[in-house]
Formats: sequence, structure tokens, C-alpha cells
Amino acid sequence: MKKFDVIVVGAGTAGCLAAKTTAEAGLNVCLVERKKQEEIGEKVCGDALGEHHLKELNLEKPQGGELEKRIEGIKIYSPNLETLFTIKSEDYVGYMLNRRLFGQWLLKKALDKGATLLDSTQCLEPVIENGFLTGVQAKNLKTGEKIKLKGKVVVDASGFLAVIRRKLPEEMGIENNIMNEDVEACYREIRQLKQERETEYCEIYLNQKVTPGGYTWIFPKSGAKVNVGLGVCMRGKFPNPKKQFYKHVLTNPLFEGSLLLNGGAWYDPTRRPLDNMVGNGVAILGDAACLVNPIHGGGIGPSMLSGYLAGKTIVEALEQGDVSQKSLWPYNRRYMEKYGTKQAGLDVFRMLLLTCKDEDLSYGMKYELLTEDDVLKAGSGEEFHLKITDAAKRVFKGLRRIGFLNKLRLTVNMMKQVKAHYRNYPEFPEGFKDWKMKTEALFKEARAKLIE
Ligand SMILES: Cc1cc2nc3c(=O)[nH]c(=O)nc-3n(C[C@H](O)[C@H](O)[C@H](O)COP(=O)(O)OP(=O)(O)OC[C@H]3O[C@@H](n4cnc5c(N)ncnc54)[C@H](O)[C@@H]3O)c2cc1C
Repeated sequence: MKKFDVIVVGAGTAGCLAAKTTAEAGLNVCLVERKKQEEIGEKVCGDALGEHHLKELNLEKPQGGELEKRIEGIKIYSPNLETLFTIKSEDYVGYMLNRRLFGQWLLKKALDKGATLLDSTQCLEPVIENGFLTGVQAKNLKTGEKIKLKGKVVVDASGFLAVIRRKLPEEMGIENNIMNEDVEACYREIRQLKQERETEYCEIYLNQKVTPGGYTWIFPKSGAKVNVGLGVCMRGKFPNPKKQFYKHVLTNPLFEGSLLLNGGAWYDPTRRPLDNMVGNGVAILGDAACLVNPIHGGGIGPSMLSGYLAGKTIVEALEQGDVSQKSLWPYNRRYMEKYGTKQAGLDVFRMLLLTCKDEDLSYGMKYELLTEDDVLKAGSGEEFHLKITDAAKRVFKGLRRIGFLNKLRLTVNMMKQVKAHYRNYPEFPEGFKDWKMKTEALFKEARAKLIE
């Protein structure tokens, strides 16, 4: 049986950063990935990454084959296409990636630091002894052979599938399952258009009939290639995203004569982070821990951040020779401080958007009940206040849409409450029970006021 300090399940963006961070500190790290090495990085994704995420992690800008295009901002179209918000700020400057090469670039960083890769190896389940994870059962997909790997800490970075998280015992205090309505079902294609479009903007189209609780995107890639797709919230009887795509998106004249290069469907968990992401000998990262921006679904940045923060915490825990939940707890706190608080606030904003009528959205965008500045602030997690004079103007403009305006007020209020609560994330596991009860009460209230 092979023994390691750390076993990282999944060599995606979260897993590679965790492996890099722990291997760099001299730990013996094993990266277990079901894909073949050369396929690592390949993923159904929008391929867009904000530059600030790389800066925060001290990672250099992509510039080799992994970079397809530099992006200057985003354009958001109202449902009736009459209003266009152009959002251009530091937070929205970024890159369109070649996803496979970007994944290979991150993988190389982990391997260069000494991590061992077991590719074509599927992790089956965690091994749990005396309440601690002590390794994983896996299967070599080339030979069919079952193997047991021992590790002092197991990291679940297996993405939406969350192969470890789903099999943890209840006593660990980590949610095994998440609600369908907190997930977006997506379908996307990479297409070669007949002609290159001159744009450096990612385009987003809001339309509740086509994409209930989600949106359609058209992102420019290199040359005449585009990444085009849509996501729908898996709430109630939601439509099939691929059917919506073929019926409402591909019929756009822009795609006439275009060539399909790659197509596929996948899921994006767009909610607040898991309330707790650690147990004895285990940490949950990236999509497996629902670390995605709830508004636009971007998760590459937060997943890498979680890889770095969890990695750093694991190094400290192993230095102290203690891998208990208590010892790994700082990862929760660090993530909540850096991104989780913002994410939780945006989860409330998502609830507003989920039930918005197209007419309200179009009206709200046209008459500035919602401004570009609000979207900007919402997107970057800043507080946005309804100023008195501004609010008075908005009330006037909102007379015909008073229900929407009230919901907007409620949303801003609930976002503030949620963020204040997250700023008090417990320092130790002992405080978690009370904190979680309050979290659940706040989200129940937000749901009742904004969705039901
Ligand atoms: C359609 C779509 C569009 C998106 N667009 C964007 C975007 O434009 N920008 C952005 O920032 N984010 C986007 N996201 C979100 C982003 O892709 C994810 O948040 C991010 O990739 C999460 O990284 P991860 O490392 O947690 O998981 P993943 O990237 O999913 O990596 C998980 C890895 O684990 C491996 N694995 C799974 N099960 C096992 C197992 N049993 N054993 C071994 N290995 C296993 C997988 O093969 C994979 O390599 C999008 C998501 C979707 C679905």
C-alpha cells in the first residue's frame, strides 16, 4: 500500500493548486485523477478568468498557448435586448483560456514541486478509521486493479461529483448533498464562426423564458472561435439546456454556417459555500465545496484560491502533527474571509434574479432601478446602498414596478445581514453549531421573502 502525507482527489484547478502548495512545503503529495494525464484541464466551461484571481495568488499571467484572448469587460443585454450594460473595470478584465492547456500549465506547477500524479485512476471512496480519513480506495482504469492509498489528509477536489464529500459520515458535520435548485445545468459549444467578430467583451444575455434563473453567454476565443452556451437553474420543472440552446441560441444568424468544434453539458453549483469544509483528516475544495460565484457561475478563481488556502492550512496542521477538524478549521475561516462572505451575499442576490420577470428586468435596466454600477458592485461583492436621493428617484421611476423595487430593497438588506453574519464565522469548531443555525435561518428568510 502506497503512503503519502496528502492525497488530492482530482487534478482540476482546485486540486492542482492544493498539490502545488503542499508539495512546495516538502510534503509527499499524491494527485489522483481519473483522466489521462494529457486530458487534464479539458472541461465543459466558459473558459473566462478574471485577471485579479491570478494576481491574488501570485500566479503569472497566462501567455503561452493557454491564453486565447485578453478580455476588456462584459456586456449584459436586457431580456428585450433594448438596454445594454457595458461593464469595464479591473474586476472584469481577464482572459479567455485554452482550458486544456491552462490545466496542463497548473498541473506542471504541481509536478515541478514534486507531487506524484496517478492519472487514469478513479477514486472510489474514502477510508475512515476511528473517525479520521486515513486514505482512499481507488481503481486503476487501465488495468481494473483496485488500490488503497494511505494519506494523513485527504483533499476532495473532484469537482461537482464530490466523490469524497458525498460519502462522509454525518458526524463529520459536512453536508453530503446540496439542493437541485442551487445548481445550474449548462450546455456549451465551442464554435468556429464564418467570420471573426471584432470584440474584446464577453456577452451575457438575460432571458427568463430561455434560461430561467441563468443566462446565455457568447465569449470570444482566438480567431473566429467562440465559446457559447447557456445555464438554467435546476428548480422545479426546468427546461433541457441543450434543447434550449438549439432552439433559441443557435438559430441566431451569427451562427449560420458555423462549425461545431466541441460540445458538452455539465453542472455548476451556484450557491453559498458549504457551511463547513473540513473534518478529521479531510478538506473539501472548489466545486466539491460549491465555491462558485452565484451570479455568474465563475469558479476557476475561487477553486484555485481554495486550493491555496487549504494547502497552506494542511501544511501547518501537519507541522503540528494534528490533522483533526479543529486543526484544519483555519481553512474555513480563511476562505470565508477572502471570498465566502462575498459569495454568501451574492447567493441572496441570485434569489432576486431567480424570480425576476423579464419585464421587470428590462424595465429595471432601462430606467436604472438597477444600474451598471449596482451590477459592478454586486459582482465584486461590494455593498451597494440605495442612497436617499437616489432612492427617491428610483421610487418615482419604480412606481410602475413597485413590487420589483421592494424586492430590490429587501435584497440589499438581506445581503447586508448575511455578510455581517459571515464576518463572524466561528474561530473554532465549537462555535459552529450556533453559527450554522443562524445561517440556515437567514437563508430560509431570504428564500421566503425573495423566492416563495
Ligand atoms: C458550463 C460551465 C461554464 C463555466 N464557465 C466558467 C467560466 O467561464 N469561468 C470560470 O471561472 N468558471 C466557469 N465555470 C465553473 C468552473 O468550471 C469550475 O468552478 C471550476 O472548474 C472548478 O474547479 P475544480 O477543480 O473544483 O473542479 P473540476 O475542474 O471539475 O476538476 C475536478 C477534477 O476531478 C476529477 N475527478 C472527478 N471524479 C474523480 C474521481 N472519482 N477520481 C479521480 N478524479 C476525479 C475530474 O476528472 C476533474 O479533473 C463553468 C462551469 C460550467 C459547468
